[in-house]
Amino acid sequence: MFSHKQLFLKHLAQTTNSPLALEIVKANGIHLIDSNGKRYIDLISGIGVSNTGHRPKRVINAIRKQLGKYLHTMVYGEYVQIPQVKLGKLLADYLPEGLDTSYFVNSGSEAIEGALKLAKRSTGRKKIIAMKNAYHGSTHGALSLMDNPYFSEAYQPLLPNVEFISFNKLEELSQIDQQTACVVVEPVQGEAGYLPAEKAWIQALRNKCSETGALLILDEIQSGMGRTGSMFAFEAYDIVPDILCVAKAFGAGLPLGAFISSDERMKTLSYEPILGHITTFGGHPLSCAAAYENFKLLSSSELISAVEEKEKLFKNLLGNISMIKNISGKGLMLKIGFANEDQVQAVIAYCLEHGLIIDWFLYDAAALRIAPPLTMTLKEIKHACKIITAACEKLTPPYQT
Ligand code: PMP
Repeated sequence: MFSHKQLFLKHLAQTTNSPLALEIVKANGIHLIDSNGKRYIDLISGIGVSNTGHRPKRVINAIRKQLGKYLHTMVYGEYVQIPQVKLGKLLADYLPEGLDTSYFVNSGSEAIEGALKLAKRSTGRKKIIAMKNAYHGSTHGALSLMDNPYFSEAYQPLLPNVEFISFNKLEELSQIDQQTACVVVEPVQGEAGYLPAEKAWIQALRNKCSETGALLILDEIQSGMGRTGSMFAFEAYDIVPDILCVAKAFGAGLPLGAFISSDERMKTLSYEPILGHITTFGGHPLSCAAAYENFKLLSSSELISAVEEKEKLFKNLLGNISMIKNISGKGLMLKIGFANEDQVQAVIAYCLEHGLIIDWFLYDAAALRIAPPLTMTLKEIKHACKIITAACEKLTPPYQT
């Protein structure tokens, strides 16, 4: 008899040579429980998804209710599906003018793909500008927005006409011109190590896009749904994107993404050619029912307003550890900087052993990623920080610098 882990290694495609291979049998709130009954605190929300915790009751009830009605009926955009309509209206009521029409898809990458197509179609332009050290997903279009050849070279040719500029560098905004269809940016760069945009820069970017007619696409796939202390990160920057991309925590644990823009712009996907963007499962009724309840939960609770206090607590509790070089990020998207990758891996291993799941960043291996469910209490944060502190204290040479 093979174990599940052996079968996982044999029959499921792997994405690294050393998958964690935790066998999770149950998840609740901030906790994951493995097949040995061991409980872990999920300090990364797997990743950036479980903002309202794992299996929030309201969301589960909404899914159950929809489960009793129907699952898939017809490709997206044909039938009037009430869960989609309710969610689309809820988003339009919340979002500022110009972001009143949603196109629902299944994932973050798909939201980016749709947004790129919408920008090209509605402007008639071909040039795309992306940021250095960005991450927007794994499909060909999204991968084309990644400047790091380590990840993209093997998959060439990718999209042509993509240029890269540096995040937070005012002088490079001059590359945006009247040939530019869109500029794609994460308000808080995820894989670069939760690096927030500077307000003056992102406002200047917004202005430059408006001046040149380039569309500003904000990737809030990870920064959205309350994670940085407002429902969407752009709200704190006093800017409004032309196209907003969401996914991850949007579906509260079910697959769902969206690109959101104006009704007028979105209409360009419906003619010349018709069916400019289509999807079978995008906006699945179960996912939309979950997302609707999740959005209401986020907007009616104290979860978002409490983010700042929780951010401060993490920073206070971890700020005095000598091994930790710096703590940065925004809200509950925190980066804990160490001297090197070995230290980070040692802390991750210690924490895992002691029931705490943390992670690292694609482009910054010398830092820990902290992005817990927003439901994590102050007491639970103190407990998690104790484990991280103990991990750091335990590290003796050669790890210490
Ligand atoms: N954009 C950002 C900022 C992301 O963090 C991710 C996922 N890590 C994506 C896009 C892609 O989302 P997905 O994995 O759902 O395709």
